[in-house]
Amino acid sequence: MKYQPPEALRDIHALVIDMDGVLWRGDDPLPGLVGFFELLRERPIAFRLATNNASKSPRQFVDKFASLGVKVAPDDILTSAGVTAQHIAAIAPGASVYAIGDGTRQAVLKHSLHLSSGEQADFVAVGWDPKLTYKELSEATLLIRAGAKFIGTNPDRTLPSERGLLPGNGAILACLQAATDVEPFIIGKPERAMFDAALAAMGADVAHTAMLGDRLETDILGGQNAGLRTIFVLTGASDEAELAASPVRPDWVFKDIQELTRAWGALS
Ligand SMILES: [Mg+2]
Repeated sequence: MKYQPPEALRDIHALVIDMDGVLWRGDDPLPGLVGFFELLRERPIAFRLATNNASKSPRQFVDKFASLGVKVAPDDILTSAGVTAQHIAAIAPGASVYAIGDGTRQAVLKHSLHLSSGEQADFVAVGWDPKLTYKELSEATLLIRAGAKFIGTNPDRTLPSERGLLPGNGAILACLQAATDVEPFIIGKPERAMFDAALAAMGADVAHTAMLGDRLETDILGGQNAGLRTIFVLTGASDEAELAASPVRPDWVFKDIQELTRAWGALS
């Protein structure tokens, strides 16, 4: 298979970066984390950190970065919950939203939307929630059946854990879809909204922006669908065998961000 030569990285002036499996795995930083951000700042290469994880706030990610020796700002981080609230606020300012998940509720309030407790809502926004109750599923079902727009922060069907795969937000969406016959509008990767939000936030154009990620089906395919070039690292969800078998072809493949930093750093 043919990839672009490292020299073609010269065209890239902005990055959309996935975090888990690229920068860290769980609580452990991956090799070269600090040096990678030094390179981005030195060049400089604009970046936004984009995650489908809707359960944490940007502030929580900023704290995680700080604990690993990297300084980033809350605005550098786009969560699918934040982009969901931003999307609703853009099409219906001040709308009333029935939200599932702490991260989604916080994002709704931050974007000056009205947080509904049931009864009436213009939107039902669903993010992963480990404390999800049957009552919440019932409220969401009734609201969607009454005409509220059904939005999912992210489509991830499973959630890896020490015990194996657990139900992810996509599984919660599937439950609501079964109960309402309504398909959700999805914000997170591989859909476009996250990529568009990142490009807009950076003021970057697609020709000079790349998506850096570890999942072929979300990061790489989603980045390609949004018109971006793509950089794949082998430190996360997909390995070399999966890459060889996949119809999804990234533009560049690196073992990890350390190897990417070395290749990029060597270009003048
Ligand atoms: Mg990842």
